[in-house]
Amino acid sequence: MTTHREPLASVLDAVGETPLVRVHASPDEVPVYAKLESFNPGASVKDRIGKYMLERMLEDGTLPEGGTIVEPTAGNTGIGFAVAAGQLGVEAVFVVPERFSVEKQQLMRALGATVVNTPSEDGMGGAIDRAHAIAAETDGAVVPQQFSNPLNVEAHYATTGPEMYDALDGEVGAVVAGCGTAGTLMGIAEYALEQNPDTHVVAVEPEGSLYATLKGDDEEEDAYKTEGIGTHDTSTNELFDPELVDEVVQIADRDAHAEVQRLAREEGHLVASSAAAASLAACDVAERIRDGEVDAPHDSVATVFPDSSERYLSKGIYGDFESWEG
Ligand code: PMP
Repeated sequence: MTTHREPLASVLDAVGETPLVRVHASPDEVPVYAKLESFNPGASVKDRIGKYMLERMLEDGTLPEGGTIVEPTAGNTGIGFAVAAGQLGVEAVFVVPERFSVEKQQLMRALGATVVNTPSEDGMGGAIDRAHAIAAETDGAVVPQQFSNPLNVEAHYATTGPEMYDALDGEVGAVVAGCGTAGTLMGIAEYALEQNPDTHVVAVEPEGSLYATLKGDDEEEDAYKTEGIGTHDTSTNELFDPELVDEVVQIADRDAHAEVQRLAREEGHLVASSAAAASLAACDVAERIRDGEVDAPHDSVATVFPDSSERYLSKGIYGDFESWEG
C-alpha cells in the first residue's frame, strides 16, 4: 500500500503512507488494523504534524522564513518538528519535562534542535509556560502549540484518516486512537464521520488520566506510566471535542505493559505503551461489535500504533512491570 516506490527528493516526502497491518489478537469476524507510524522518517506519528504544520505556517506567514519554533513536547513532536524544521530552514527549540525519554531528547539534538528541560513536577503545563516565555524573548519565534492549534487535527484529517480509508476500501466500522493532544483522534474522527456519521469513535487513555471526565465519566486522577497519551489537566486539551467521541476507554499501565511484550513476542510489533493501549482498546471494541454490543457500520476497526519501543529501551519497557519506569 505504500506509495514510496520511486526515489524521493527529501525525507519530508517519506512522511505518511505508513503500512496498515492486521492485529492478530482481534476477532476474525471484526479484524483490527493498525497504522505503523514508526515507518515515518522520525519514527513516529508526529512527523505528520511536523511537516504539515510547518509547511502551512510558512505558507501563511505565521512563521517567517528562517524563523524559530519553540514547542513544549513530550518528545515525539520535537523529533517530528525537528525533521521538518531542518529541511525547511527553520530553527527549533523544544521544552521537554525531564521525565520524558532521553532517547527522544538525544534525537532532537542530533537533528539540530535545542532542548530545554523543565522540572517533571511542573508537568506539561510548566513546559507550555516556559515555551511561551522563550518565544517572547526570541526574534521571529512562534509557538506552534500542538495542544491548541487546529493544524494538528488538520494534518490527520488530510493524511492519516484518508490513508486508513483507502487501505480498507472505505469499510471502517470504528476508529480508535490514544489521546495526548488528541490531534490524531480528532483528525481521523472528523474524516471518518464525514464518510459515515455512524462510525464508532473511541478515545484511549491510561487509567488515572482525565479525558473520560469530559464525557461525564467519574474517574479518579492518578499517576500513570504509559507515555504519550492521557492528561492530568483537561484545560490544556483544547483540541479534544467530546461530541465527536462515543466513548473513552481507559487502559491500566499493567495491561499496556503486558501488551507491549505480547505484541512483540506474538505479532512482531516493536511498539511502545501507547500503541499497546490502543491495541487493547481496539480489540475490545472489535469484540463488542462482534457480540452486537456496539453498533458499527462495518465489521472492522482501525487504530494507530504511534511509535516504536526502541525509543524506551532505557526505561525497561521489556523488563518486569515494577521496574518499568514508564
Ligand atoms: N503516543 C505517543 C508515543 C505520543 O508521543 C503521542 C503524542 N503525544 C501520542 C501517542 C498521542 O498523539 P496525539 O497528541 O495526536 O493525541
